[in-house]
Amino acid sequence: MSAWTRLAEPLRLFNLFLLSMGLFQVVVVNIAPLEAGALGPDHWRSAQRRLVVVDKTGDRGWQQATRHAVDVWNQAAGPTGVRLTWTTGSGTCSPDRVRISVCTASAARLGGGRTANRQGRADVELDPDGHNLGAFVLVCSDCRPSEARRRVIATHEIGHTLGLSHTPRLSSVMLHTGGAERPDDLDAAEVRSLYEHVDGPLRCGVFNLRLGTFCL
Ligand SMILES: [Zn+2]
Ligand SMILES: [Zn+2]
Repeated sequence: MSAWTRLAEPLRLFNLFLLSMGLFQVVVVNIAPLEAGALGPDHWRSAQRRLVVVDKTGDRGWQQATRHAVDVWNQAAGPTGVRLTWTTGSGTCSPDRVRISVCTASAARLGGGRTANRQGRADVELDPDGHNLGAFVLVCSDCRPSEARRRVIATHEIGHTLGLSHTPRLSSVMLHTGGAERPDDLDAAEVRSLYEHVDGPLRCGVFNLRLGTFCL
């Protein structure tokens, strides 16, 4: 066997390896954006679906409302998929991984007016592939909503942090003006369908390779 023949086989295998890596990259790059588009943005990836709602309002009325929101969204989501737990806390609100903080803010800061958009607001931070990375909710400190109205606002805004958008249905909690106090059957179907898939880990770069703190 000549030196060249001995070298040829490993070279051929290495070439095959390079070719398959190239194909793999093309497939991954092309499929990933399609999946994200098909599922829509703004939902929590599989590893982050045990979410804590931290009520930092220090207000008994809002605490009852956020607790209600956690209960009704858990009922709507069913035993699998996304799961919320409730607790109180203190401090300011900013996007916070796997914790949805709720704080109060003046109606002026929320835009004034009477719609849920103005009495409450949800902010969501997305990772590079469109999944939620963190979220927080602001509710009005000075617009004096009734107890029932607080339940509507809290449930509506937490619905946004779970990935639901506005609907024109009067029975929906996601009606743009605030809607009902709890998700209707279609809201429940939507939150279930948003979370019935399983996500892989977040890609960190072209080669999706982590070497300590480096990402290739
Ligand atoms: Zn996903
Ligand atoms: Zn809204």
